[in-house]
Amino acid sequence: MRAAVYYGNHKLEVEDIPEPTTGDGQVKVRVSRNGICGTDLHEFFDGPIFISPSEPHPLTGKAMPVVIGHEFSGVVTEVGAGVDDVHEGDHVTIEPIYRCGECRPCRTGHYNLCNSVGFHGLMADGGMAEYTVVPRNQVHHLPDSVSLEMGALVEPMSVAYHAAGLAEVNDQSRALVFGAGPIGVGLWFALRGMGLTEIDVVEPSPTRRASIDKLGARTLDPTADDVAGIIAERTNGDGVDAAFDAAGVEASVESALTCLGERRPLISVAIYEKPLSTSLINLVLRERRIQGTICYTADDYRAVIDLMAQGHYDTQGWVETIPLSGVVEQGLEELRAGRRMKLLVDPTA
Ligand SMILES: [Zn+2]
Ligand SMILES: [Zn+2]
Repeated sequence: MRAAVYYGNHKLEVEDIPEPTTGDGQVKVRVSRNGICGTDLHEFFDGPIFISPSEPHPLTGKAMPVVIGHEFSGVVTEVGAGVDDVHEGDHVTIEPIYRCGECRPCRTGHYNLCNSVGFHGLMADGGMAEYTVVPRNQVHHLPDSVSLEMGALVEPMSVAYHAAGLAEVNDQSRALVFGAGPIGVGLWFALRGMGLTEIDVVEPSPTRRASIDKLGARTLDPTADDVAGIIAERTNGDGVDAAFDAAGVEASVESALTCLGERRPLISVAIYEKPLSTSLINLVLRERRIQGTICYTADDYRAVIDLMAQGHYDTQGWVETIPLSGVVEQGLEELRAGRRMKLLVDPTA
């Protein structure tokens, strides 16, 4: 079968490898679409970061080389012994987290924080291939009303949904989102799904602003608009109830800490490439807080799939499909250059 195999920095080869076999408790999936994530870009251009060059992962036993791809949907083609609630022909999306089930985060329901956490497509052969094999507990069924293209977006949309859930907002809340990349878009959909109508999205890139504008979002350009002034005016000086950093730069953290109401959280869902020198005095004086967030659990997957089944998510204008053969030139390089928003890979093309 064809697969995108990662051999290290700037080394991603589309090649023929043997099809994986289905072990006990496992499910084999014919991949329909696999999204390219910011993590994949970091592994290709700056890595290896999460992918281990030689040390096998404790839960998967796997190190480099590895088939990348952790955001995918597909059709079940085979199930292993002991799997009786997933069947050949089922449409599914994968929650790519390996967890130990025994550490404190696992025991308290926060397995996204497992001390030995691993990801399908980073620490095990992933979805940028014609077929992949996953444990049963990573499989979520897609209802008929959710397409396989949409199904490949459940993973990134769940990252955003989990982040939105940590902000303790309700339908009367006002929110401010920094960054209109795929996670910023996902935050906007998630917050709308939670009933919020007062959401501003701050994004300097005109192309990204245009994409989220078309979905119906209200946007601000931090290079031209006085974000703090506009938010103060809109909230009668109270500030927003929640801010989200999906940009990962100092300017967004600083601006968020100015726009937040007292005792309200800044939810950080960004990978910070550089240390910040932001003063935290604004945090202290108003009892604001910064809360980190990573990944999701099955609850977030179920909530996102339900919203998708209700037609809540729209892929128009920000999601495109490319062939596996073009994963580097049409995929990673185009995303790195900021010319594309979200790209899904078709492994059969
Ligand atoms: Zn990802
Ligand atoms: Zn654990």
